[in-house]
Amino acid sequence: MDNNNNNNNNNSDLRFCQLCRRPSTSVRDMFQLTDGLYICSDCMHNMLNTMGKFGLTQTNSMPLEPVAPPVEEKKSEPEQPDQKEEENKQGSTVFPGFGIPGVSFLNMSDLQGMFNPRPKVKKTKDKEKKPVIDIKDIPRPDRIKKLLDEYVVGQEYAKKVISVAVYNHYKRVASESMPETSFSERLKDVEIEKSNMLMIGPTGCGKTYLVKTLARLLNVPLAIADATSLTEAGYIGDDIESVVTKLLTAADNDVDKAETGIIFIDEIDKIAKKKSTNNRDVSGESVQQGMLKLLEGSEIEVPVGSNSKNAMVPLATVNTRNILFICGGAFPDLDEIIKQRLRKQTSIGFNAELRDSLDKRKDILKEVTVEDVKKFGMIPEFVGRLPMLFSLEGLTEEMLVRILREPKNALIKQYQKLFEMDEVALEFTDDALTEIAKKAMERDTGARALRSIIEEFMLDLMYEIPKDDNIGRVIVTKEYVLHEGGPVIELRGMSGSGLYIGQNSYDIQYH
Ligand code: ADP
Repeated sequence: MDNNNNNNNNNSDLRFCQLCRRPSTSVRDMFQLTDGLYICSDCMHNMLNTMGKFGLTQTNSMPLEPVAPPVEEKKSEPEQPDQKEEENKQGSTVFPGFGIPGVSFLNMSDLQGMFNPRPKVKKTKDKEKKPVIDIKDIPRPDRIKKLLDEYVVGQEYAKKVISVAVYNHYKRVASESMPETSFSERLKDVEIEKSNMLMIGPTGCGKTYLVKTLARLLNVPLAIADATSLTEAGYIGDDIESVVTKLLTAADNDVDKAETGIIFIDEIDKIAKKKSTNNRDVSGESVQQGMLKLLEGSEIEVPVGSNSKNAMVPLATVNTRNILFICGGAFPDLDEIIKQRLRKQTSIGFNAELRDSLDKRKDILKEVTVEDVKKFGMIPEFVGRLPMLFSLEGLTEEMLVRILREPKNALIKQYQKLFEMDEVALEFTDDALTEIAKKAMERDTGARALRSIIEEFMLDLMYEIPKDDNIGRVIVTKEYVLHEGGPVIELRGMSGSGLYIGQNSYDIQYH
Protein backbone atom coordinates (compact mmCIF):
# COMPACT_ATOMS: atom_id res chain seq x y z
CA MET A 1 0.00 0.00 0.00
CA ASP A 2 2.75 2.36 1.03
CA ASN A 3 4.73 1.35 -1.97
CA ASN A 4 1.84 2.11 -4.22
CA ASN A 5 1.47 5.55 -2.71
CA ASN A 6 5.12 6.27 -3.29
CA ASN A 7 4.77 5.31 -6.94
CA ASN A 8 1.86 7.62 -7.32
CA ASN A 9 3.82 10.49 -5.78
CA ASN A 10 6.72 9.87 -8.12
CA ASN A 11 4.36 9.89 -11.12
CA SER A 12 2.84 13.19 -10.06
CA ASP A 13 6.35 14.70 -9.99
CA LEU A 14 6.75 13.84 -13.67
CA ARG A 15 6.15 16.72 -16.05
CA PHE A 16 5.39 16.26 -19.73
CA CYS A 17 6.25 18.68 -22.52
CA GLN A 18 3.05 20.10 -23.87
CA LEU A 19 4.36 19.86 -27.44
CA CYS A 20 6.46 16.71 -27.81
CA ARG A 21 4.94 14.82 -24.84
CA ARG A 22 8.36 13.70 -23.56
CA PRO A 23 8.63 13.41 -19.76
CA SER A 24 10.89 15.69 -17.75
CA THR A 25 13.18 12.74 -17.08
CA SER A 26 14.17 12.48 -20.74
CA VAL A 27 14.70 16.15 -21.57
CA ARG A 28 17.40 18.56 -20.59
CA ASP A 29 15.27 21.37 -19.15
CA MET A 30 11.61 21.93 -18.74
CA PHE A 31 10.01 25.39 -18.72
CA GLN A 32 6.81 26.17 -16.95
CA LEU A 33 4.30 28.16 -18.96
CA THR A 34 1.40 28.34 -16.54
CA ASP A 35 0.23 26.12 -13.75
CA GLY A 36 0.47 22.55 -15.01
CA LEU A 37 1.67 23.54 -18.50
CA TYR A 38 5.27 22.78 -19.43
CA ILE A 39 7.44 22.89 -22.49
CA CYS A 40 10.82 21.24 -22.95
CA SER A 41 13.97 23.19 -23.84
CA ASP A 42 14.18 21.62 -27.33
CA CYS A 43 10.65 22.62 -28.26
CA MET A 44 11.21 26.07 -26.77
CA HIS A 45 14.33 26.66 -28.85
CA ASN A 46 12.64 25.37 -31.99
CA MET A 47 9.80 27.76 -31.39
CA LEU A 48 12.09 30.74 -30.83
CA ASN A 49 14.11 29.88 -33.95
CA THR A 50 10.96 29.78 -36.05
CA MET A 51 9.86 33.13 -34.70
CA GLY A 52 13.29 34.56 -35.48
CA LYS A 53 12.99 33.46 -39.10
CA PHE A 54 9.80 35.44 -39.46
CA GLY A 55 11.52 38.48 -38.02
CA LEU A 56 9.68 38.36 -34.72
CA THR A 57 12.24 39.12 -32.11
CA GLN A 58 12.03 38.43 -28.47
CA THR A 59 10.80 41.71 -27.23
CA ASN A 60 10.06 41.34 -23.58
CA SER A 61 12.66 40.90 -21.02
CA MET A 62 11.24 37.93 -19.15
CA PRO A 63 14.13 35.63 -18.41
CA LEU A 64 14.16 32.15 -19.84
CA GLU A 65 14.30 30.25 -16.62
CA PRO A 66 14.08 26.50 -16.81
CA VAL A 67 12.12 24.61 -14.23
CA ALA A 68 14.62 22.49 -12.43
CA PRO A 69 14.07 18.77 -12.71
CA PRO A 70 12.93 16.81 -10.82
CA VAL A 71 10.01 19.02 -10.96
CA GLU A 72 9.06 20.73 -7.79
CA GLU A 73 5.61 22.24 -7.89
CA LYS A 74 6.61 25.79 -8.60
CA LYS A 75 4.02 28.51 -8.34
CA SER A 76 3.97 30.67 -11.42
CA GLU A 77 5.38 33.95 -10.32
CA PRO A 78 3.17 37.01 -10.44
CA GLU A 79 4.28 39.49 -13.01
CA GLN A 80 6.95 41.79 -11.66
CA PRO A 81 5.32 45.14 -10.99
CA ASP A 82 8.42 47.10 -11.96
CA GLN A 83 8.67 45.23 -15.26
CA LYS A 84 5.14 46.23 -16.12
CA GLU A 85 5.95 49.79 -15.12
CA GLU A 86 8.97 49.76 -17.40
CA GLU A 87 6.82 48.64 -20.32
CA ASN A 88 4.31 51.34 -19.63
CA LYS A 89 7.03 53.94 -19.37
CA GLN A 90 8.36 53.07 -22.79
CA GLY A 91 4.86 53.15 -24.18
CA SER A 92 5.51 49.60 -25.30
CA THR A 93 2.53 47.63 -26.52
CA VAL A 94 4.18 44.27 -26.08
CA PHE A 95 1.73 41.71 -24.81
CA PRO A 96 2.95 39.23 -22.27
CA GLY A 97 2.76 36.26 -24.62
CA PHE A 98 0.26 34.35 -22.53
CA GLY A 99 2.87 33.74 -19.87
CA ILE A 100 5.37 32.04 -22.21
CA PRO A 101 8.74 33.15 -20.91
CA GLY A 102 10.84 34.86 -23.52
CA VAL A 103 7.90 34.99 -25.88
CA SER A 104 5.84 38.03 -26.53
CA PHE A 105 3.37 39.22 -29.07
CA LEU A 106 3.62 42.44 -30.94
CA ASN A 107 0.85 44.89 -31.46
CA MET A 108 0.41 44.82 -35.25
CA SER A 109 -0.75 48.42 -35.38
CA ASP A 110 2.69 49.40 -34.03
CA LEU A 111 4.33 47.52 -36.86
CA GLN A 112 2.16 49.30 -39.37
CA GLY A 113 3.46 52.60 -38.09
CA MET A 114 7.02 51.36 -38.43
CA PHE A 115 6.81 50.27 -42.06
CA ASN A 116 4.37 52.79 -43.37
CA PRO A 117 4.62 55.96 -41.36
CA ARG A 118 1.37 57.84 -41.35
CA PRO A 119 1.58 61.00 -43.37
CA LYS A 120 1.13 64.09 -41.32
CA VAL A 121 -1.76 66.29 -42.27
CA LYS A 122 -1.15 69.97 -41.84
CA LYS A 123 -4.12 72.14 -41.16
CA THR A 124 -4.02 75.55 -39.61
CA LYS A 125 -6.40 75.92 -36.72
CA ASP A 126 -9.09 78.52 -37.28
CA LYS A 127 -7.64 80.71 -34.53
CA GLU A 128 -4.23 81.01 -36.10
CA LYS A 129 -5.58 81.28 -39.63
CA LYS A 130 -4.03 84.15 -41.53
CA PRO A 131 -5.32 85.31 -44.91
CA VAL A 132 -4.67 82.47 -47.33
CA ILE A 133 -3.73 84.83 -50.10
CA ASP A 134 -2.66 88.41 -49.85
CA ILE A 135 -4.03 90.66 -52.56
CA LYS A 136 -0.56 92.16 -52.97
CA ASP A 137 0.89 88.75 -53.85
CA ILE A 138 -1.40 88.17 -56.80
CA PRO A 139 0.33 89.05 -60.07
CA ARG A 140 -1.69 91.30 -62.37
CA PRO A 141 -3.18 89.70 -65.51
CA ASP A 142 -0.68 91.35 -67.86
CA ARG A 143 2.16 90.04 -65.72
CA ILE A 144 0.71 86.51 -65.69
CA LYS A 145 0.34 86.64 -69.47
CA LYS A 146 3.90 87.85 -69.94
CA LEU A 147 5.18 84.94 -67.88
CA LEU A 148 3.07 82.51 -69.87
CA ASP A 149 4.42 84.04 -73.10
CA GLU A 150 7.90 82.88 -72.15
CA TYR A 151 6.81 79.27 -72.30
CA VAL A 152 3.69 78.98 -74.45
CA VAL A 153 3.77 79.88 -78.13
CA GLY A 154 0.67 81.47 -79.68
CA GLN A 155 -2.70 80.86 -78.00
CA GLU A 156 -2.91 84.60 -77.32
CA TYR A 157 -6.62 84.63 -76.57
CA ALA A 158 -6.45 81.61 -74.26
CA LYS A 159 -3.52 83.11 -72.35
CA LYS A 160 -5.42 86.36 -71.91
CA VAL A 161 -8.58 84.66 -70.65
CA ILE A 162 -6.61 82.45 -68.27
CA SER A 163 -4.61 85.38 -66.89
CA VAL A 164 -7.76 87.35 -66.10
CA ALA A 165 -9.65 84.33 -64.74
CA VAL A 166 -6.80 83.35 -62.47
CA TYR A 167 -6.37 86.92 -61.27
CA ASN A 168 -10.07 87.13 -60.45
CA HIS A 169 -10.06 83.74 -58.83
CA TYR A 170 -7.32 84.58 -56.38
CA LYS A 171 -8.85 88.01 -55.76
CA ARG A 172 -12.02 86.21 -54.79
CA VAL A 173 -10.04 84.00 -52.40
CA ALA A 174 -8.30 87.04 -50.92
CA SER A 175 -11.58 88.96 -50.57
CA GLU A 176 -12.91 86.33 -48.18
CA SER A 177 -10.31 87.14 -45.58
CA MET A 178 -10.37 90.93 -46.09
CA PRO A 179 -12.15 93.14 -43.54
CA GLU A 180 -15.57 94.37 -44.56
CA THR A 181 -14.29 97.92 -44.40
CA SER A 182 -12.16 97.27 -47.47
CA PHE A 183 -15.31 97.42 -49.59
CA SER A 184 -17.88 100.10 -50.15
CA GLU A 185 -21.22 99.80 -48.38
CA ARG A 186 -22.91 98.92 -51.64
CA LEU A 187 -20.59 96.04 -52.53
CA LYS A 188 -19.54 94.56 -49.23
CA ASP A 189 -22.20 91.80 -49.35
CA VAL A 190 -21.63 90.89 -52.97
CA GLU A 191 -20.22 87.40 -53.39
CA ILE A 192 -17.80 86.87 -56.23
CA GLU A 193 -18.44 83.64 -58.11
CA LYS A 194 -15.81 81.07 -58.99
CA SER A 195 -13.97 81.37 -62.31
CA ASN A 196 -13.68 77.68 -63.19
CA MET A 197 -12.71 77.20 -66.82
CA LEU A 198 -13.54 74.97 -69.75
CA MET A 199 -10.82 74.86 -72.43
CA ILE A 200 -11.50 73.44 -75.82
CA GLY A 201 -8.72 72.68 -78.25
CA PRO A 202 -7.30 69.89 -80.42
CA THR A 203 -4.89 67.40 -78.97
CA GLY A 204 -1.31 68.57 -78.45
CA CYS A 205 -2.09 72.29 -78.72
CA GLY A 206 -0.86 73.06 -75.21
CA LYS A 207 -3.87 72.79 -72.87
CA THR A 208 -2.09 70.75 -70.23
CA TYR A 209 1.12 72.64 -70.78
CA LEU A 210 -0.62 75.98 -70.19
CA VAL A 211 -2.08 74.82 -66.88
CA LYS A 212 1.18 73.24 -65.74
CA THR A 213 3.08 76.42 -66.55
CA LEU A 214 0.47 78.52 -64.79
CA ALA A 215 0.62 76.47 -61.59
CA ARG A 216 4.41 76.62 -61.58
CA LEU A 217 4.49 80.37 -62.08
CA LEU A 218 1.91 80.97 -59.36
CA ASN A 219 3.56 78.43 -57.11
CA VAL A 220 0.32 76.65 -56.28
CA PRO A 221 -0.21 72.88 -56.12
CA LEU A 222 -1.65 71.26 -59.22
CA ALA A 223 -3.40 67.94 -59.73
CA ILE A 224 -3.99 66.57 -63.21
CA ALA A 225 -6.65 63.92 -63.70
CA ASP A 226 -8.11 62.20 -66.69
CA ALA A 227 -11.89 62.27 -66.90
CA THR A 228 -11.93 58.89 -68.63
CA SER A 229 -10.71 57.19 -65.46
CA LEU A 230 -13.31 58.84 -63.23
CA THR A 231 -16.40 56.92 -62.25
CA GLU A 232 -19.14 57.35 -59.72
CA ALA A 233 -18.18 56.11 -56.25
CA GLY A 234 -18.65 52.38 -56.06
CA TYR A 235 -17.67 51.58 -59.63
CA ILE A 236 -14.29 50.33 -60.83
CA GLY A 237 -11.99 53.27 -61.53
CA ASP A 238 -11.02 56.35 -59.57
CA ASP A 239 -13.93 57.90 -57.80
CA ILE A 240 -14.48 61.58 -58.43
CA GLU A 241 -13.15 62.70 -55.09
CA SER A 242 -9.79 61.07 -55.85
CA VAL A 243 -8.83 64.25 -57.73
CA VAL A 244 -8.85 66.10 -54.42
CA THR A 245 -6.64 63.40 -52.90
CA LYS A 246 -4.18 63.98 -55.74
CA LEU A 247 -4.17 67.69 -55.03
CA LEU A 248 -3.55 67.12 -51.34
CA THR A 249 -0.58 64.93 -52.24
CA ALA A 250 0.73 67.63 -54.58
CA ALA A 251 0.43 70.08 -51.67
CA ASP A 252 2.53 67.80 -49.41
CA ASN A 253 -0.58 67.03 -47.36
CA ASP A 254 -0.94 70.68 -46.44
CA VAL A 255 -4.72 71.19 -46.46
CA ASP A 256 -4.52 75.00 -46.54
CA LYS A 257 -2.24 74.90 -49.57
CA ALA A 258 -4.40 72.32 -51.34
CA GLU A 259 -7.48 74.43 -50.75
CA THR A 260 -6.07 77.16 -53.00
CA GLY A 261 -4.61 74.85 -55.63
CA ILE A 262 -5.62 74.01 -59.19
CA ILE A 263 -7.24 70.81 -60.44
CA PHE A 264 -7.01 70.15 -64.17
CA ILE A 265 -9.35 67.52 -65.57
CA ASP A 266 -8.34 66.50 -69.06
CA GLU A 267 -10.40 64.67 -71.70
CA ILE A 268 -13.57 66.13 -70.24
CA ASP A 269 -15.37 65.55 -73.55
CA LYS A 270 -15.16 61.81 -72.87
CA ILE A 271 -17.77 62.13 -70.13
CA ALA A 272 -20.32 63.72 -72.43
CA LYS A 273 -23.82 62.32 -72.29
CA LYS A 274 -24.22 59.43 -74.71
CA LYS A 275 -26.74 60.27 -77.40
CA SER A 276 -28.71 57.04 -77.14
CA THR A 277 -28.08 54.42 -74.57
CA ASN A 278 -30.32 52.02 -72.78
CA ASN A 279 -27.71 51.10 -70.20
CA ARG A 280 -26.96 53.09 -67.11
CA ASP A 281 -24.41 55.68 -68.10
CA VAL A 282 -21.59 55.04 -65.65
CA SER A 283 -18.83 57.07 -67.20
CA GLY A 284 -20.78 59.93 -68.68
CA GLU A 285 -23.66 61.91 -67.37
CA SER A 286 -23.51 60.48 -63.86
CA VAL A 287 -19.85 61.47 -63.55
CA GLN A 288 -20.78 65.01 -64.58
CA GLN A 289 -23.51 64.96 -61.94
CA GLY A 290 -21.02 63.67 -59.38
CA MET A 291 -18.62 66.49 -60.14
CA LEU A 292 -21.11 69.28 -59.56
CA LYS A 293 -20.62 69.69 -55.84
CA LEU A 294 -16.87 69.47 -56.25
CA LEU A 295 -16.84 72.32 -58.79
CA GLU A 296 -19.20 74.44 -56.74
CA GLY A 297 -17.36 74.00 -53.47
CA SER A 298 -17.96 71.46 -50.75
CA GLU A 299 -16.20 69.77 -47.89
CA ILE A 300 -14.69 66.51 -49.05
CA GLU A 301 -13.21 63.88 -46.78
CA VAL A 302 -10.16 62.46 -48.47
CA PRO A 303 -7.71 59.77 -47.42
CA VAL A 304 -4.23 61.07 -46.77
CA GLY A 305 -1.39 59.31 -48.54
CA SER A 306 -3.62 56.74 -50.19
CA ASN A 307 -6.12 56.47 -52.98
CA SER A 308 -8.78 54.64 -51.08
CA LYS A 309 -10.57 55.24 -47.84
CA ASN A 310 -10.11 52.48 -45.30
CA ALA A 311 -9.79 52.13 -41.57
CA MET A 312 -6.00 52.39 -41.61
CA VAL A 313 -5.76 55.67 -43.52
CA PRO A 314 -6.29 59.02 -41.81
CA LEU A 315 -8.81 61.32 -43.41
CA ALA A 316 -8.54 65.05 -44.00
CA THR A 317 -11.34 67.42 -44.84
CA VAL A 318 -10.63 69.59 -47.85
CA ASN A 319 -12.95 72.41 -48.85
CA THR A 320 -13.05 72.82 -52.62
CA ARG A 321 -14.58 76.33 -52.50
CA ASN A 322 -11.33 78.02 -53.40
CA ILE A 323 -9.86 75.35 -55.62
CA LEU A 324 -9.69 76.45 -59.24
CA PHE A 325 -11.03 73.80 -61.59
CA ILE A 326 -9.90 73.82 -65.20
CA CYS A 327 -11.41 71.28 -67.55
CA GLY A 328 -10.03 70.60 -71.00
CA GLY A 329 -10.90 68.49 -73.98
CA ALA A 330 -10.59 68.15 -77.74
CA PHE A 331 -14.39 67.89 -78.28
CA PRO A 332 -14.18 66.21 -81.68
CA ASP A 333 -16.98 67.20 -84.06
CA LEU A 334 -17.86 70.21 -81.97
CA ASP A 335 -16.88 72.28 -85.01
CA GLU A 336 -19.75 70.68 -86.93
CA ILE A 337 -22.20 71.62 -84.16
CA ILE A 338 -20.94 75.21 -84.26
CA LYS A 339 -21.17 75.36 -88.05
CA GLN A 340 -24.71 74.02 -87.98
CA ARG A 341 -25.75 76.70 -85.52
CA LEU A 342 -24.08 79.44 -87.53
CA ARG A 343 -25.71 78.22 -90.73
CA LYS A 344 -29.14 78.33 -89.12
CA GLN A 345 -28.55 81.88 -88.00
CA THR A 346 -27.75 83.12 -91.48
CA SER A 347 -30.44 84.34 -93.82
CA ILE A 348 -31.40 82.04 -96.65
CA GLY A 349 -30.24 84.40 -99.39
CA PHE A 350 -26.55 84.24 -98.45
CA ASN A 351 -26.65 80.62 -97.56
CA ALA A 352 -24.50 79.07 -100.25
CA GLU A 353 -21.77 81.68 -100.01
CA LEU A 354 -21.66 81.50 -96.23
CA ARG A 355 -21.66 77.75 -96.14
CA ASP A 356 -18.59 77.85 -98.28
CA SER A 357 -16.73 80.30 -96.10
CA LEU A 358 -17.82 78.47 -92.92
CA ASP A 359 -16.48 75.19 -94.23
CA LYS A 360 -13.14 76.77 -94.99
CA ARG A 361 -12.73 78.39 -91.57
CA LYS A 362 -10.04 76.71 -89.53
CA ASP A 363 -10.68 78.74 -86.38
CA ILE A 364 -14.34 77.85 -86.05
CA LEU A 365 -13.87 76.71 -82.41
CA LYS A 366 -13.44 80.39 -81.52
CA GLU A 367 -17.21 80.79 -81.97
CA VAL A 368 -18.06 78.17 -79.35
CA THR A 369 -20.96 78.94 -77.01
CA VAL A 370 -22.48 77.22 -73.99
CA GLU A 371 -25.30 75.98 -76.24
CA ASP A 372 -22.84 74.14 -78.50
CA VAL A 373 -21.18 72.44 -75.57
CA LYS A 374 -24.56 71.39 -74.18
CA LYS A 375 -25.49 69.98 -77.55
CA PHE A 376 -22.26 68.03 -77.51
CA GLY A 377 -23.48 66.24 -74.38
CA MET A 378 -22.40 68.24 -71.36
CA ILE A 379 -25.25 68.76 -68.91
CA PRO A 380 -26.34 72.38 -68.28
CA GLU A 381 -25.51 72.27 -64.57
CA PHE A 382 -22.00 71.15 -65.40
CA VAL A 383 -21.32 73.82 -68.02
CA GLY A 384 -22.91 76.37 -65.69
CA ARG A 385 -20.19 75.71 -63.14
CA LEU A 386 -17.43 76.38 -65.68
CA PRO A 387 -18.24 79.96 -66.61
CA MET A 388 -14.99 80.71 -68.47
CA LEU A 389 -15.47 78.96 -71.79
CA PHE A 390 -12.79 79.42 -74.46
CA SER A 391 -10.91 77.61 -77.18
CA LEU A 392 -7.29 77.14 -78.23
CA GLU A 393 -6.10 77.21 -81.81
CA GLY A 394 -4.88 74.17 -83.66
CA LEU A 395 -1.12 74.53 -84.22
CA THR A 396 0.14 75.58 -87.65
CA GLU A 397 3.46 74.61 -89.21
CA GLU A 398 4.83 78.03 -88.40
CA MET A 399 3.79 77.73 -84.75
CA LEU A 400 5.46 74.34 -84.52
CA VAL A 401 8.73 75.84 -85.75
CA ARG A 402 8.43 78.52 -83.09
CA ILE A 403 7.67 75.89 -80.44
CA LEU A 404 10.87 74.10 -81.43
CA ARG A 405 12.93 77.23 -81.10
CA GLU A 406 11.46 79.94 -78.88
CA PRO A 407 10.11 78.87 -75.48
CA LYS A 408 12.37 78.91 -72.43
CA ASN A 409 12.36 75.12 -72.40
CA ALA A 410 12.31 74.71 -76.19
CA LEU A 411 13.22 71.23 -77.40
CA ILE A 412 16.12 72.51 -79.49
CA LYS A 413 17.53 74.30 -76.45
CA GLN A 414 17.32 71.10 -74.43
CA TYR A 415 19.40 69.19 -77.01
CA GLN A 416 21.82 72.10 -77.26
CA LYS A 417 22.34 71.95 -73.52
CA LEU A 418 23.02 68.21 -73.67
CA PHE A 419 25.62 68.75 -76.42
CA GLU A 420 27.15 71.70 -74.63
CA MET A 421 28.00 69.38 -71.76
CA ASP A 422 30.24 67.55 -74.24
CA GLU A 423 31.56 70.95 -75.43
CA VAL A 424 29.91 70.55 -78.80
CA ALA A 425 27.79 73.30 -80.41
CA LEU A 426 24.55 72.03 -81.94
CA GLU A 427 22.71 73.96 -84.62
CA PHE A 428 19.66 73.39 -86.79
CA THR A 429 19.20 75.06 -90.16
CA ASP A 430 15.88 76.84 -90.74
CA ASP A 431 14.76 74.38 -93.37
CA ALA A 432 15.60 71.48 -91.04
CA LEU A 433 13.18 72.96 -88.48
CA THR A 434 10.50 73.47 -91.14
CA GLU A 435 10.90 69.87 -92.22
CA ILE A 436 10.47 68.64 -88.63
CA ALA A 437 7.32 70.78 -88.30
CA LYS A 438 5.96 69.40 -91.58
CA LYS A 439 6.46 65.84 -90.37
CA ALA A 440 4.71 66.70 -87.10
CA MET A 441 1.73 68.20 -88.97
CA GLU A 442 1.29 64.90 -90.81
CA ARG A 443 0.96 63.01 -87.55
CA ASP A 444 -1.87 65.26 -86.42
CA THR A 445 -1.03 65.11 -82.73
CA GLY A 446 0.02 68.74 -82.39
CA ALA A 447 3.32 69.59 -80.76
CA ARG A 448 3.43 66.17 -79.14
CA ALA A 449 4.86 64.65 -82.31
CA LEU A 450 7.90 66.97 -82.32
CA ARG A 451 9.82 65.15 -79.67
CA SER A 452 9.54 61.70 -81.22
CA ILE A 453 10.49 63.02 -84.68
CA ILE A 454 13.62 64.71 -83.37
CA GLU A 455 14.52 61.77 -81.20
CA GLU A 456 14.50 59.50 -84.28
CA PHE A 457 17.44 61.24 -85.95
CA MET A 458 19.16 62.66 -82.87
CA LEU A 459 19.78 59.17 -81.51
CA ASP A 460 22.66 58.50 -83.91
CA LEU A 461 24.22 61.89 -83.21
CA MET A 462 23.97 61.50 -79.47
CA TYR A 463 25.59 58.09 -79.81
CA GLU A 464 28.41 59.01 -82.20
CA ILE A 465 29.44 62.54 -81.24
CA PRO A 466 30.76 61.89 -77.72
CA LYS A 467 33.11 59.25 -79.21
CA ASP A 468 35.24 61.86 -80.93
CA ASP A 469 36.74 64.66 -78.83
CA ASN A 470 37.75 66.55 -81.98
CA ILE A 471 34.19 67.37 -82.97
CA GLY A 472 33.35 70.98 -82.11
CA ARG A 473 30.12 71.70 -83.98
CA VAL A 474 27.22 69.77 -85.48
CA ILE A 475 24.72 71.28 -87.89
CA VAL A 476 21.46 69.39 -88.46
CA THR A 477 20.35 69.91 -92.06
CA LYS A 478 17.09 69.34 -93.91
CA GLU A 479 18.73 66.40 -95.74
CA TYR A 480 19.60 64.75 -92.45
CA VAL A 481 16.00 65.14 -91.18
CA LEU A 482 14.74 63.63 -94.41
CA HIS A 483 17.27 60.78 -94.19
CA GLU A 484 18.72 61.91 -97.51
CA GLY A 485 22.11 62.99 -96.22
CA GLY A 486 24.09 63.65 -93.10
CA PRO A 487 24.63 66.56 -90.77
CA VAL A 488 27.58 68.87 -91.13
CA ILE A 489 30.26 68.02 -88.60
CA GLU A 490 33.02 70.51 -87.88
CA LEU A 491 36.19 69.68 -86.05
CA ARG A 492 37.54 72.00 -83.40
CA GLY A 493 39.51 74.86 -84.89
CA MET A 494 38.54 73.85 -88.43
CA SER A 495 35.35 75.78 -89.00
CA GLY A 496 34.08 75.63 -92.58
CA SER A 497 35.31 72.19 -93.51
CA GLY A 498 34.57 69.04 -91.70
CA LEU A 499 33.29 65.58 -91.50
CA TYR A 500 30.18 64.21 -93.01
CA ILE A 501 28.19 61.52 -91.33
CA GLY A 502 26.25 59.53 -93.89
CA GLN A 503 22.76 58.25 -93.50
CA ASN A 504 24.07 55.45 -91.36
CA SER A 505 25.79 56.76 -88.32
CA TYR A 506 28.81 54.55 -88.79
CA ASP A 507 29.26 55.87 -92.32
CA ILE A 508 31.59 58.77 -91.47
CA GLN A 509 33.24 60.45 -94.43
CA TYR A 510 35.15 63.63 -95.05
CA HIS A 511 33.60 66.38 -97.16
P1 ADP B 1 -2.86 68.97 -74.89
O1 ADP B 1 -3.47 70.17 -75.51
O2 ADP B 1 -3.28 67.72 -75.59
O3 ADP B 1 -3.05 68.94 -73.42
P2 ADP B 1 -0.10 69.32 -74.21
O4 ADP B 1 -0.28 70.57 -73.43
O5 ADP B 1 0.08 68.08 -73.42
O6 ADP B 1 -1.30 69.09 -75.20
O7 ADP B 1 1.10 69.51 -75.22
C1 ADP B 1 2.09 68.54 -75.45
C2 ADP B 1 3.46 69.16 -75.47
O8 ADP B 1 3.58 70.00 -76.59
C3 ADP B 1 3.71 70.04 -74.26
O9 ADP B 1 4.36 69.34 -73.26
C4 ADP B 1 4.59 71.15 -74.81
O10 ADP B 1 5.94 70.80 -74.69
C5 ADP B 1 4.26 71.20 -76.27
N1 ADP B 1 3.36 72.31 -76.61
C6 ADP B 1 2.09 72.20 -77.04
N2 ADP B 1 1.57 73.37 -77.33
C7 ADP B 1 2.52 74.29 -77.06
C8 ADP B 1 2.58 75.70 -77.18
N3 ADP B 1 1.55 76.42 -77.61
N4 ADP B 1 3.73 76.32 -76.84
C9 ADP B 1 4.79 75.59 -76.42
N5 ADP B 1 4.80 74.26 -76.30
C10 ADP B 1 3.68 73.60 -76.62
